[in-house]
Amino acid sequence: MQLDYRVKIHRLISLIHQAGKVLALTGAGISTESGIPDFRSRNGGLWVRFDPAEIASVQALKRDPATFYRFHLPWWQTCLKAAPNVGHKALAQLEKAGWLLGVITQNIDGLHQAAGSQRVWEVHGHLRNCHCLGCGQIYELKQLYQSFFCTQCGNLLRPQVVLFGDPMPPDYFTAEKVLSGCQLLLIIGSSMQVQPVANLPALARQVVIVNREATPWDDYAELVFHESAGQVLKDLVAGLQGKTGPYFFA
Ligand SMILES: [Zn+2]
Repeated sequence: MQLDYRVKIHRLISLIHQAGKVLALTGAGISTESGIPDFRSRNGGLWVRFDPAEIASVQALKRDPATFYRFHLPWWQTCLKAAPNVGHKALAQLEKAGWLLGVITQNIDGLHQAAGSQRVWEVHGHLRNCHCLGCGQIYELKQLYQSFFCTQCGNLLRPQVVLFGDPMPPDYFTAEKVLSGCQLLLIIGSSMQVQPVANLPALARQVVIVNREATPWDDYAELVFHESAGQVLKDLVAGLQGKTGPYFFA
């Protein structure tokens, strides 16, 4: 049965009131409202046209850096130019107000921090910098727009994002620890298709899903919103602040 949207928002507010430890797990869907395309969306997602293991792997980078960077640099540029939207800002507000412990994110765009979130675990890395595969020298990511090679030793530069074939970064293992004892996990804008992150909800006692498309966790969730992440989070913040936004009079 599809519950009325307003009833679901009220239930979500009650769940948060009752829960001791609340975390969010975000994916590309929260950033599409900032103009960053979702690689895995059904309509025209890049992964539909390219095999991710081929185009976003360490092997692909080493084998053919020019092709690798020709594919990735334009959309990283889109990420770097993007601004946080109402969904990112709502999560930052929830943390500041003490309702949310922090955000585990699959996104590399840095928009949670840009919105003011303090505790962010980036389980797929980030775009703040890149480093040399030879000497380890760290550069700002924009260096890649000048050259793919280290000015110190001439070896190949790579981004601090997790590529296929990479081990998971320390933030992933911290996220696993942080999820221990988590009462409520808000899954926002993720279709939960990518391992090992797709298994993380099993560590929380309850999950609520806000995602436009169905996820493998929908049947397990207390509540499922197939709506805009920004709208749901905005209404959640308004509800927790005791304000009944215009929606509630509709
Ligand atoms: Zn180097």
